[in-house]
Amino acid sequence: QFHKGKGQHILKNPMVVQSIVDKAGIKSTDTVLEIGPGTGNLTMRLLEKAKKVIAVEVDPRMVLELQRRVQETPYAASLQVIQGDVMKSELPYFDICVANIPYQISSPLVFKLLTMSSNFRAAIIMFQHEFAMRLVAQRDDKLYSRLAVNTQLLARVHHLLKVGRNNFRPPPQVDSSVVRIEPRRPPPPVNLREWDGLVRLCFLRKNKTLGAIFRQASVLALLEANAATIAALKTTGITQAAAQDANMFEAAGEADNAADIDAMDEDDEAGGTGTNPTQLRGKKHKFSQAFKDRVLAVLDSRGMTERRAAKLSQDDFLALLAAFNAADIHFS
Ligand code: SAM
Repeated sequence: QFHKGKGQHILKNPMVVQSIVDKAGIKSTDTVLEIGPGTGNLTMRLLEKAKKVIAVEVDPRMVLELQRRVQETPYAASLQVIQGDVMKSELPYFDICVANIPYQISSPLVFKLLTMSSNFRAAIIMFQHEFAMRLVAQRDDKLYSRLAVNTQLLARVHHLLKVGRNNFRPPPQVDSSVVRIEPRRPPPPVNLREWDGLVRLCFLRKNKTLGAIFRQASVLALLEANAATIAALKTTGITQAAAQDANMFEAAGEADNAADIDAMDEDDEAGGTGTNPTQLRGKKHKFSQAFKDRVLAVLDSRGMTERRAAKLSQDDFLALLAAFNAADIHFS
């Protein structure tokens, strides 16, 4: 009956459904975007509160069932169903997003919502519990990572409610949690690509000092090559395209990247000129001593040499990026 791979776990406990709707803070004038309405348990409650609900559902059988369910009710006119994959659809205007989504789209969906231009107020989303804890993690938490730092750059996030697996039919393998995501308005004036480049580097080894990370030959060679590219772009008058990299919201993969960087880091050798970053692996990493001094001086001047990503706040990362950029050191 259920499609494998679409994450169709229907929320059966009416108290949990009600609790999500109550905590969402929906106004009677709101247009709500629901993603993955399934058979409509959440949708019916949303319709009671909102002016309009727009539901995006990929499975045509679910769309039919939902339409049948709402047909005989006073809410038929306030529901608009869009059949399609939310990741491939252009999203309509909405005030609030409420969603019990299939967990495999968690990262890309958060990224899509936080980088769209629409001025929505909040998204209340059910995630796998572990993912939710990673989203809301603060510095010093065990789960603090690039995902938390990137998300919290663009939004305030709060854990609302833990939901055990037995509230679903069929029950999934993992527990869930509902998180409230409120986009920061206006969005911080940061180049996302640069931001993610810095954060990614710092979290390759989140318990290593920044001094150690930025003394690695592979890192210095890459940054010096970036600086050379940007200097060249400047002289030709081409500006960098605005950054949108869905990868920046990935929860996993840090360990793999760390292994990569370690593998790249056999030689620590100053001298020579900038190296093409795509040719880094297996080659000697060329960078100039002057460039290394410049990088380390930035860390020193901000008191960052002995600090570790695991203990840096948003403001620390913002200040660090600004200081690097002021010294013409770039991360994309
Ligand atoms: N909201 C319902 C509930 O709480 O009982 C169902 C939740 S179920 C976890 C996820 C729903 O999302 C399913 O109905 C599934 O068909 C739908 N879905 C899965 N992938 C989707 C996608 N990419 N775009 C839109 N809907 C999707």
